[in-house]
Amino acid sequence: MMQRTRFAWAWLGMWVAATTMICGGLAPAQTPQPRQPHKTQNVILVMVDGMRWQEVFRGADPALLPIPGPKWQGNSEDMTAAAKAHYGEATADERRKALMPFLWSVVESQGQIFGNRDLGSDSHVINGLDFSYPGYSETLTGFADPRIDSNKNLPNPNTTVFEWLNAKPEFAGKVAAFGAWAVFNGIFNRERCGFPVNAGYDAFTAIPSTPELSLLNTLKAETVRIWPDEPFDPIPFHTAIEYLKAKHPRLLFIGLGETDEWAHKVDYPAYLDAAHLADQYVRELWELLQSMPQYRGTTTLIVLPDHGRGDGSDWNDHGVKHPESRETWMAFLGPDTPALGERKAGTVVTESQIAATIAAFLGQDYHAAVPQSGVAIEDVLGK
Ligand SMILES: [Zn+2]
Repeated sequence: MMQRTRFAWAWLGMWVAATTMICGGLAPAQTPQPRQPHKTQNVILVMVDGMRWQEVFRGADPALLPIPGPKWQGNSEDMTAAAKAHYGEATADERRKALMPFLWSVVESQGQIFGNRDLGSDSHVINGLDFSYPGYSETLTGFADPRIDSNKNLPNPNTTVFEWLNAKPEFAGKVAAFGAWAVFNGIFNRERCGFPVNAGYDAFTAIPSTPELSLLNTLKAETVRIWPDEPFDPIPFHTAIEYLKAKHPRLLFIGLGETDEWAHKVDYPAYLDAAHLADQYVRELWELLQSMPQYRGTTTLIVLPDHGRGDGSDWNDHGVKHPESRETWMAFLGPDTPALGERKAGTVVTESQIAATIAAFLGQDYHAAVPQSGVAIEDVLGK
């Protein structure tokens, strides 16, 4: 009896040892290592309406630069000459650096930029309509809804990732959206979403006024209105900056619109100036963030458009009649994003992945909660 018991224990010991070895050997492959917590605690999303990948990666198009802006401006020849002087360098590499110097210095060396089709990198919208509301809604909700089929300022029936995060205690009161276009009120569903949305010509009064906010609200009311639903970009941008300084949001949207508006007016010089200003704003934002303890080293910046535009002489328009306008680009800069720079063929990215990517940076699984949304872009999330 004693012999058999000892034998049984010995056998059991060998079995356990063998099993441990086998399992120990297989464990790393079978069990995914838990993801390290992200350094990112804050995300800023900047969208540049209808900015084409062609100018982002090639700079100003030499075939379009000589075309003067519309006569109504009165100074179109001066503007064309200035655009040539500012952006008309000899090579595509020089031209893109002249147009977007921050993107092609800091973001290229420290972040990632998708969408250069000349290198085989594919970034696009999936909504099939290739205009603004469907593009913003796809980006902010993570999926294309066939009911979103116009640019009418209607309340979005779907919940954006901004609203989804704001409903969580750790983000409540830490979310805000500022945009040039009045329709952001509908896209974010201002009435329902529970966080500040300021868009179009509405005065911003959600926080105690400062001299800067007071002046911005005055300029918004009094500056000449070229477009009935959209002031010039400096007003919403600087309003967002004032809010950022005062309230330190963890998730902030800034929507710039002049690129699209000037393109629709077939004004290439003004379109280029708007793109250049957008790049300057991204730099100002990044430098401000790095100067603030609440944001330094813990903030990810994402920059992309809501759709592309037609190709070549068709550059000014977009939509289903312009199939290239589904083509977009996207840039990421932050403490978790590996510095892979300008991306080549390989990972295909879509605007429908942005919502889950924003949430993943902030440690939240949006795709699990909203299964129809695109999955987070692993390449930019880091280990
Ligand atoms: Zn648009």
